[in-house]
Parts: sequence; C-alpha cells; structure tokens
Amino acid sequence: MSCEAISITSISLHPSRLTPHLYPLTCLLAVICVLVLNACSTPQDHGVAITGPTMGSTFSVSIPVLPEQLSRDELEKQINDILADINQTMSTYLADSELSRINTSSSTDWIPISPRLYAVLSASQQISELSHGAFDITVGALVNLWGFGPPASKQKIPDANAIQELMQWTGYQHIELRASPAAIRKAYPQTYLDLSGIASGYAADCLAELLDSHAISNYLVDISGEIRARGRNTRNQIWRVGIEKPLVDRRDVQTIIALDNLGLTTAGDYRNYFVHKGKRYSHTIDPSTGWPVSHNLSAVTVIDKSAMIADALDTALMVMGPDRAFQFAEEHHIAALFILVDGDKFIQKTSSQFSPALLQ
Ligand code: ADP
Ligand code: MG
Repeated sequence: MSCEAISITSISLHPSRLTPHLYPLTCLLAVICVLVLNACSTPQDHGVAITGPTMGSTFSVSIPVLPEQLSRDELEKQINDILADINQTMSTYLADSELSRINTSSSTDWIPISPRLYAVLSASQQISELSHGAFDITVGALVNLWGFGPPASKQKIPDANAIQELMQWTGYQHIELRASPAAIRKAYPQTYLDLSGIASGYAADCLAELLDSHAISNYLVDISGEIRARGRNTRNQIWRVGIEKPLVDRRDVQTIIALDNLGLTTAGDYRNYFVHKGKRYSHTIDPSTGWPVSHNLSAVTVIDKSAMIADALDTALMVMGPDRAFQFAEEHHIAALFILVDGDKFIQKTSSQFSPALLQ
C-alpha cells in the first residue's frame, strides 16, 4: 500500500525543540500521549531511537537493529524529509502550506492538489460518509473560532451568531474531490479545512511504509501519540503501549496493549480544552451543532491496520458520544477502547473487536 495512495493514534514535550519550519499542525498542548513500554536493562539493548519535533509535537521512531547498509543519519534524514513534506502539505499553521492556500482561496473551481493531499482528503471524506458527518474536516473555521487552531485566538465561548455564520459553510458535502488529475472544489469560498484529526495518523503510516521499504521488520513509530508498531522490541518482545488515564494534571497508565503490525491512535478531551463556569470545552467539535462535544466520553483509542483511519475514527467516535460510538464500533467492526468519566472514577469499555488486543 503506497502511502500516497492509501484509500482509507510516549513522549514528553518541550516547546524549545520546535523549529520555525516545523510550525505546528496541531496545538502543542493538544497531544495525547501513550507510554511505550520498552524499558531496557542494559545500554546495549537500546537499539536506535530517532526523535524530534513535528507538527507542534514530537515524534519517535524506535528500531532494535538497523540493516547494515542503512546508516542512522541517512534514515533520520529520510524521516525528517517526509515529516517536513507532510507539514508543508497539511498544516493550517503555515500560511504557505498547500492546505492553507486552499483555505484562503476564493475559488469555487477545481484546484489542483498533490497526491499526498488527495490521499488524506479522500480518506477524510470516506470517514465522513461512514460516520454520517461526525468526522468532518470542514469544521476548521469553527475549531479556530473556539480558539483551538491558528491564529492563537482566545479560548472562549464564541458569539452564537458567529457560530451560526460558520455553520453555513461547514459540511463535508461542500467539498468535492477528483482523483485524476487530483483536485478539490469548494462549494463556498469560505469553507475551511482542518486535517489535525487525521494527519498524525497518516504521518505514522508514511514512516511505517518507509521502514517497510528498507525491509526493517521491527519498529515502533510514534507521532504525538499516534502509533504504528511492527515486530518486536529490543528485548524480543511484542511492542506494548500504555494507554493513559484521561487525567489533566498527571500521567498514569489505564491499560496496556500489545501491538503487532497495527496502528493505534487516541483522541481525548483532557489535553486541549478550556474551562468556563466549571464546564470543560474541548477541541473536538460536533459538526452538527458547531459546539465542542458534551458528554462523559473522555478518551477513545482505536486500533486499525492504518493509523490514518484509526485517527479519523477516534475523532468520529469522540463526536458520537458513549452510546452511539459503542454501537457504531460494533456495527462497523471497529476495535475501540472507550474511557468514560463517572464522578471521580473512570469506566473502561471495549468493542468486541478490541478485546483480543488487550494484554492481560
Ligand atoms: P487528539 O488531538 O485528542 O489526539 P483528534 O485526533 O480527535 O485528537 O484530533 C483533534 C483535532 O481534530 C482538533 O484539534 C481539531 O483540529 C480537529 N477536529 C475537531 N473536531 C473535528 C471533527 N468533528 N472532525 C474532524 N476534525 C475535527
Ligand atoms: Mg483523530
């Protein structure tokens, strides 16, 4: 499966590591982390770890052993090139990214797009249709209005009229895609696209594809908590990742999952949010209301072969809320783990597809 032609979720952050050319795709504080459980006892066990800033967050690629013909420096360069290209294509924080140029275009004619952008837009549209608009990249202007995107506007409850105005141009049906030559057409010039709910998963898939192309069969890719894992770690064990409890003030493991040749992504309401009159408003916007979601589902983790699809689905399930999301996951055979808040307790629920993936 080519990364550009795909048809269909660690690390502590340090702002000073961000460089201007890797300006954030998602808000720095928005990151949901997973804990990679790969503790090694001796220095020689460490393998190769390539880490750095990307998309307003960090990435890490862990490989127990590199092929002899491939140097660490060469692989690091290839990884950084791919991530820089994805950022330059999909960031809404970069005024000259390909996506920003579409967002600021007043054209309602076909606009040519790169194969990379087409791949992610078409996957987005498929998940929008599947989820009946729960996942919808046209929420971009609303995301910004609520203060969860660029420019760094104040996070506050917007004026009701402003929400209504933007709702006119919100709706995945207002964009049309053409495969060949790849192009997009907006029904309204004002429609604004935001790929932050899917792009990190896509990036994880791209790095996994790069590693596969080098015949590396043991690796773990982590792009701001969106994971692709294959094979075994330095201790010759299947990779294990810890899913966080949705706590705002500290990090603690809720559950541990073993992963082989799969993607795992998480969406949550506990990192990027603001509180008004005791109520939390998080960065997941319900496209049917223009408001942040309001329910007791605090985090959703999805496992899928494609991290891009898992990433889009985690957002869709967050929008649906606990009951509808569970039903939807069962109906569509989605491997999903839900963490619900009940007072000061967390309730964990898994879909039938997910359960076998849990490590006892
Ligand atoms: P997280 O950042 O918690 O891992 P997501 O994958 O759900 O979670 O990405 C959240 C981002 O997706 C938001 O910051 C926003 O930019 C965008 N977004 C918000 N609501 C939607 C939606 N309904 N559909 C698509 N994208 C959304
Ligand atoms: Mg997502």
